[in-house]
Amino acid sequence: MGIYVFLIICILWILIIVATVVYGVYGMFRDIVMFFFKDKLAHLLFRNLNARSKTFLQKYFLYYRNLPPKDKLFFERRVQKFMNMKDFEPRGELKQVTLEMKTLIAASAIQITFGLPAVYMHRFYRILVYADDYYSTITHRHHRGEVNTRGFIVLSWKNLVEGYANNTDGRNLGLHEMAHALRIVDALHSEEQNLFDRETFMQFINYARQEMVRIETGEESFFREYAATNDHEFFAVAVENFFERPDAFHGYHPQLYLLLADLLNQNTLTSGNHSA
Ligand SMILES: [Zn+2]
Repeated sequence: MGIYVFLIICILWILIIVATVVYGVYGMFRDIVMFFFKDKLAHLLFRNLNARSKTFLQKYFLYYRNLPPKDKLFFERRVQKFMNMKDFEPRGELKQVTLEMKTLIAASAIQITFGLPAVYMHRFYRILVYADDYYSTITHRHHRGEVNTRGFIVLSWKNLVEGYANNTDGRNLGLHEMAHALRIVDALHSEEQNLFDRETFMQFINYARQEMVRIETGEESFFREYAATNDHEFFAVAVENFFERPDAFHGYHPQLYLLLADLLNQNTLTSGNHSA
């Protein structure tokens, strides 16, 4: 009897050792692939998205629904990875950040970075979620969202949902805040630095400033007044419109649209003009 117990323990030990070695080698292999191929290829090695999150994407996320099947898989895996990397914290009245919330927040980050290589905005590791608008003790104003360079993104769930409930009004809190975060990530000297081509970005800013002057002087503009606040707000508002009203954006100001398409490495036009 004793010998069998001994054998079983030995076999279990061997299995544990083999599993550890295999997992370790796999991890190393994945890191090496990530290092050399910071693109979609690396995501073949990531974990699949959990089934419940997939149903949320299918139900609420038009951008995801419109992706070709191959890209859907990449998108899902990037969403899962983003969720795994972040600390989601409920704030104010909100008692829990649900899987649905995490999924849609992660998806908004992946939507804007989908054309870029493996961007997970490492700097922003905390995501604070309020049920509705919240009062900021820093700015002494009510907010729907903000991005803080100390490392967190703040979002109001109600406003995030409203952003995706209407996909064509050019207003989307999730995309707006993720655009701020992405610009900060680009500007900071980190491993994800210089995501944007400098020259393209400066051209974008030049056109943006001309547009901001138009808004300030009361001329008619495609962009809402808030875009004229500063460069950062203009970029964030432009991103919202890039995804929600691409054809109208392109029709109004083709250069600005194409520069943004270049920066994000995506083309959102539905009219068949895929020259970006
Ligand atoms: Zn903003």
